[in-house]
Amino acid sequence: MKKLAVVAFGGNALMRGDQKGTIDEQEANAYQACEDLTKLLDLNYNIVVTHGNGPQVGNILLANTAGNKLYGLPDMPLDISVAYSQGFIAYVIEQQLRNVLMAKDLDRDIISIITQVLVNKDDPAFQSPTKPIGPFYTKVEADKLSADNKTVFQEDARGRGWRKVVASPTPLVIFNRQTIEKIAREGHIVIAVGGGGIPCFYVESNKLQGIDAVIDKDLASSLLASQVRADKLFILTDVPKVCLNYNSPQEKSLDKMTIAEAKKYLEEGHFGEGSMAPKVRAAINFVERSGKETVITESKFLASENGGTKVTIV
Ligand code: ADP
Ligand code: MG
Repeated sequence: MKKLAVVAFGGNALMRGDQKGTIDEQEANAYQACEDLTKLLDLNYNIVVTHGNGPQVGNILLANTAGNKLYGLPDMPLDISVAYSQGFIAYVIEQQLRNVLMAKDLDRDIISIITQVLVNKDDPAFQSPTKPIGPFYTKVEADKLSADNKTVFQEDARGRGWRKVVASPTPLVIFNRQTIEKIAREGHIVIAVGGGGIPCFYVESNKLQGIDAVIDKDLASSLLASQVRADKLFILTDVPKVCLNYNSPQEKSLDKMTIAEAKKYLEEGHFGEGSMAPKVRAAINFVERSGKETVITESKFLASENGGTKVTIV
């Protein structure tokens, strides 16, 4: 009987901070990440891949704004941009994964799924949007754009201008979870929940609609992992291990932490908000719901015994 792994690719798996983000670069990065991924096939896992979309959806939003200004194209709501990014990124990953499988003479099919995720429109996150997205504006432009009282702008901490901020509500249900689980357990590799999924809510009891928000990809991946009853959640990023006192002379990398320790370290502020903290929260959620383990690491340590930080019940 094969085990089931959910593997969350960080933004870095495709676009690195020091790169421009050309398609050639993204394809090369994806190929490397997919090559690492196949180590899990050797360990007898079925696989669901999830991924971030930060830099890509950022570029899609800039392109929409330019299209609107230059050619009068209609404004594109954020949920549509997230859907674009899911299609684009899943295509790149799927194609590179096919190339890796062919090179290694491995026979698995791959399917990419556009994924909607249910959120609650009364989620308190909608009262205080925190996630900056899209282009930078001047104060005057931002004031004009926020006159509708629906759009909130915040000044960038690094002084680059004003930027729209949206809510990051808690993901509640992955709509395709049953199909994702079924296909993955049949041995096909599934790519789903890109960028944390497209946030949707019930406008009426039988009518779904997208909403202007973004879902944290680590939290959505963790929810998916519990909803498909995964045996392990891997959160892949650009550091080999989670650290205490990160980036200080007292820095200490962790091989393992229990959920009680993880909660304590979170409270003590060891993990960056918007970077490592959501991964640790995602790990805690999955471990608490499933009793299984989460590993946070780089893709090259995916299958190694002492690579990465394990988060466990006890
Ligand atoms: P991803 O695209 O993989 O989600 P993020 O940039 O969101 O990447 O998160 C990974 C980053 O978290 C690392 O590059 C590191 O700079 C940062 N980080 C913050 N706190 C810690 C910590 N305590 N230990 C390790 N990395 C940390
Ligand atoms: Mg991140």
